[in-house]
Amino acid sequence: MSGKTDLLTLFLPEMQALFAQESLPKFRAAQVYGWLMKGAGFDEMKNLPAALRAQLAENWDAGTVRILEVFESRKDETKKFLFALSDGNIVEGVLMRYHYGSTLCISSQVGCKMGCAFCASTLDGCVRNLTCGEMLHMVLLVNRRYEQQDRRGVTNIVIMGSGEPLDNYDQVIRFLRLVSAPEGIAVSPRNISLSTCGLVPEIYRLMQEDLPITLAISLHAPNDDIRSQIMPISRRFSMQELMGACVEYTRRTKRRIVFEYALIDRLNNSQQHARQLAALLRGMMCHVNLIPLNRVEERRLMPSAKEQTDAFLKTLTALGISATVRREMGSDIQGACGQLRRRYLSQKESEPSGG
Ligand code: SAH
Repeated sequence: MSGKTDLLTLFLPEMQALFAQESLPKFRAAQVYGWLMKGAGFDEMKNLPAALRAQLAENWDAGTVRILEVFESRKDETKKFLFALSDGNIVEGVLMRYHYGSTLCISSQVGCKMGCAFCASTLDGCVRNLTCGEMLHMVLLVNRRYEQQDRRGVTNIVIMGSGEPLDNYDQVIRFLRLVSAPEGIAVSPRNISLSTCGLVPEIYRLMQEDLPITLAISLHAPNDDIRSQIMPISRRFSMQELMGACVEYTRRTKRRIVFEYALIDRLNNSQQHARQLAALLRGMMCHVNLIPLNRVEERRLMPSAKEQTDAFLKTLTALGISATVRREMGSDIQGACGQLRRRYLSQKESEPSGG
């Protein structure tokens, strides 16, 4: 990284203070901020004198990420991005088009250290946290690229790419405030979901932030026994502790929790598991998102058959639990977390060096 301050990590008043320190007029900060929110670099800020643009570029970064590659699904309008960070690391993002607008799925870390048995992101561990500026820049770059085609650009954000967002708590919270700042691109927190494997202390912190986002919990099991077979985090926090935090979250925020549950053949998809899950969630303000497991080459786990998925859904619904099966999108362009980055990295490794 360059060591310069990335202006995308700052709120407008902070930028104004920074400009004041450099004896730059206050209106310049608002001008630059307006450009930054369009995803522009300093050289594109046409109403600024060239000398000023050069001075700005000398002192600061106008975002540090770039779009390395875009993969467009032929089946639906899903687009998958590889973003290059300034230190050469690579992360993924996915843009999905829905009737209400477009949802961008972003990563919060390069890799992940949580070690879930079905996930590709965690295979090589966590390289580093993303900064709030990097996360914001990804949104701005995608916005810029698709705003014309899709007039509203990115309307919704899910932090469900690689990484455990609550393991990068401060940067993620700052990102949430930056991306929803009214003077910026103002994505409503109500249109933002954060998905966690269940870091209990951070869930308690999050409920005090006054950020009306949707909390999604990667549950994937109806009991501790099964959960500990696929999610190492469950050895740190029991189901009971996790559910306690979730109940408290809904009580304090008045917001419904989404439980993600990937159906895995012969592990968590029986009728008994469905009944156990329903009993666990009874009375909670929640919705269950059943996910057809995305097969990851390096992993032995197999997706549940469609009949069992349908039966699981039916049982949950009959027992009064709100649930849906997540639609698969972009399956022709490597939908599952971390797969695209891994493919890219392994191709690079197998290419002759020196290029
Ligand atoms: N670390 C966070 C967010 C990233 S994962 C979390 O655990 O929630 C985003 C979602 O994708 C999680 O629900 C995760 O469990 C799920 N996921 C990961 N690999 C998957 C796979 N191969 N098939 C289906 N869902 C998967």
